[in-house]
Amino acid sequence: MVKLIELDHLPDGLLERPASALHHSLDGPTLIHLEGRNKQPLFVSVLQHGNEVTGWEAIRRLLKSHYEFDELPRSLSILIANARAAKYRLRRLDDQLDYNRCWPGGQHEDSEPGKLFQQITDRMRSLSPIASIDIHNNTGLNPHYAAINRVRPEFLRLAENFSSKVVFFTTPLGTQSMSFSGFCPATTLECGQAGEVHGTDHSIGFLETCMHMNAIPTAPLDADEVHLFHMVATVRVPDDVLIGFGHVPTEITFRENLDVLNFQELPAGISLGDINGGPPKPLRVADINDIDVTDHYFRFDRGQIETVREIMPSMLTLDRRVIHQDCLCYLMERIHFEDHVEGTAHDPLPDGIRRSDRPGEPSI
Ligand SMILES: [Zn+2]
Repeated sequence: MVKLIELDHLPDGLLERPASALHHSLDGPTLIHLEGRNKQPLFVSVLQHGNEVTGWEAIRRLLKSHYEFDELPRSLSILIANARAAKYRLRRLDDQLDYNRCWPGGQHEDSEPGKLFQQITDRMRSLSPIASIDIHNNTGLNPHYAAINRVRPEFLRLAENFSSKVVFFTTPLGTQSMSFSGFCPATTLECGQAGEVHGTDHSIGFLETCMHMNAIPTAPLDADEVHLFHMVATVRVPDDVLIGFGHVPTEITFRENLDVLNFQELPAGISLGDINGGPPKPLRVADINDIDVTDHYFRFDRGQIETVREIMPSMLTLDRRVIHQDCLCYLMERIHFEDHVEGTAHDPLPDGIRRSDRPGEPSI
């Protein structure tokens, strides 16, 4: 049986340690409960990916600068997930699963981290947290955004306190936020690239806001309060395809500044790069049911990786290791308000969004 390490205090000197040195104090994933005035805890998860240090930097600075001598406004339950990978500044070690695929509901429930995360989920469910926040970075140029797994008012209200850009996703399975979405409002924060100070500042501000809220509001949002995107597909590069960027002559040469396309609505006919060899389909696009939908989005018959319909990518990265370990990017579709105008809607409104009352305004 894997044992959950649970503490009711910060180990001595922990706040002095950068993410890469936490392994000196922590012997595995560690859940730390700190008591505040309001006893209902805020759950915060950091370092599920060892190179994504913004979450730990935010917690560390928040506790050091504001609460070293003052009482916390609300109890905090902090999960420091992967100090081992953080030691090497890696997303995960080669002998580790991706921790953010090991939570209940995913395919790795029987793995060692899977059993541990089941215990953490059970433990936190019993404490009825006000909300759950999982803090990440990405490796390309991306705006800060919040992701949610359920379109409900309290999830949207939580997320919009971080960013007006909100991404709704249901795959990959086994993520922390998805698992906690069953019992509390949960969000995943994408705070830009690791090491950027404004990502830490932004996270600290958000955590402060959450700690001072009495409850997450449940009033429905007007359609124009958030830009809501649905993550509809994942784009992967097969392991045996050689990739490069710019002018490097490889089988696939992506355009140099590929990641500037993140969160841009791209029309059909845009090229993501040149094809100089390799298999006939150098990308595989899978929808949320893992069905191959590559031809729906791209064509490859003109020596280019060319879009065949409007798409909006996120998490495009120039990091080849990340591309092969995780994916090239995700594809998103805006949840178009005008598709849901009363009387013409084919789809029901997502929970949590009300139609705008203002005449002439697009609404959902
Ligand atoms: Zn991450």
